[in-house]
Amino acid sequence: MPGFELFDREEQKHIQEVMDTGIIMRYNFDGLRNNQWKAKELETEISKSLQIKYVHLTSSGTTALITAMKALGIGAGDEVIMPVFTFVASFEAILFTGAIPVFADIDDTLTLNPEAVEKAITPRTKAIMPVHMCGAMADLDELIEIAKKHKLFLIEDACQATGATYKGKSLGTIGDIGCLSFDFVKTVTCGEGGAVLTNDEKVYQLSEQFSDHGHDHVGNDRGAEDHPVVGLNFRISELHAAIGLGQWGKLDRFLAQQRKIKNRIKNNLKKSPEIGFRRIPDEAGDNASFLSLILDDEIFAKNLANELKSKEIPCAYWYDNKWHYVRKWDHFKNLKNSKQLYSEQRELLPDYENQDFSASDAIMKRTVSIPISLKWDEQKADQISAAIIEITKNQTVEK
Ligand SMILES: *Cc1c(COP(=O)(O)O)cnc(C)c1O
Repeated sequence: MPGFELFDREEQKHIQEVMDTGIIMRYNFDGLRNNQWKAKELETEISKSLQIKYVHLTSSGTTALITAMKALGIGAGDEVIMPVFTFVASFEAILFTGAIPVFADIDDTLTLNPEAVEKAITPRTKAIMPVHMCGAMADLDELIEIAKKHKLFLIEDACQATGATYKGKSLGTIGDIGCLSFDFVKTVTCGEGGAVLTNDEKVYQLSEQFSDHGHDHVGNDRGAEDHPVVGLNFRISELHAAIGLGQWGKLDRFLAQQRKIKNRIKNNLKKSPEIGFRRIPDEAGDNASFLSLILDDEIFAKNLANELKSKEIPCAYWYDNKWHYVRKWDHFKNLKNSKQLYSEQRELLPDYENQDFSASDAIMKRTVSIPISLKWDEQKADQISAAIIEITKNQTVEK
């Protein structure tokens, strides 16, 4: 799953090229950098391989999301609909643009349920933010239709789905704007990093300006540049971009490897009637960083997760996880009293503590995900499959 598993000389080569000049800042210093522009080069590579006009790198996936919303003009009091199953960063990014995160249920895709999204729309809604969790996509056709009907932006949080596609198009390039993360455990890593993807030139310009103190990046005298917008520093460094360049060149290999191993385990498990799978709207486009199983019963799922852990097979039981699922996001539920927010924003927040996500609970309780390591071979895949089959078989007997 994480690209760091296959670090090699490639990343080192790009890092060395940066250090040979000593210019680790992505902008300016033209005379000293010996024509090394790693961030720009990585942006060009991503734009070519994902078939998107504009790519702007940032310091993280979180800052990419904030930048994307700022570029779309989303802010004070606007509502953004997001799923209850994601990483905390989706929520934080919405909150710190001044907007209001509005949760909607997920379905058996483990991503936004389009019906729940439609129900969550109010006159304040500005955007829908599907999160393509664990390497695979939301029901994008339906979500796009809803966004069009209600004139809302579609912001793709594709932080966990680098390289995945939906009907031939790369995730992150399908909505109005998309974000990738290159943090340490993602499919492609820069150590820390993120990207904003868009086909809209104006939105791209606003993104690159906002993420560098509002600089317009015209000319090569930073002190003389204009500031069309107020921004922040969400820049990526040349060293992080250098690692990303080494990694990006291996993306196709990562995807092929993940898909080979995941498909092998999945095919092995298909023989077991006790084991169900997450629904994937376009199976061929899955980046295959995870295999997500949906069992018949909460106890079976918990037991499977515990047994796998005791056999040192990595797995996630999201229902009890404090980073990824709404149930344990206690620090968000107390925001009504938080001094970090203006009282106006606090008053607009939904009553997070008393919302009903039982439809999502019913799925999450039964879900176990297995991260697919880039280091596994077919023999390892068969061993893992056999272990899962053995554990779930016993569970059925106990029932
Ligand atoms: C990792 C992740 C982010 C944030 O990315 P960082 O680079 O860690 O800031 C946002 N959303 C999702 C779904 C993620 O998995």
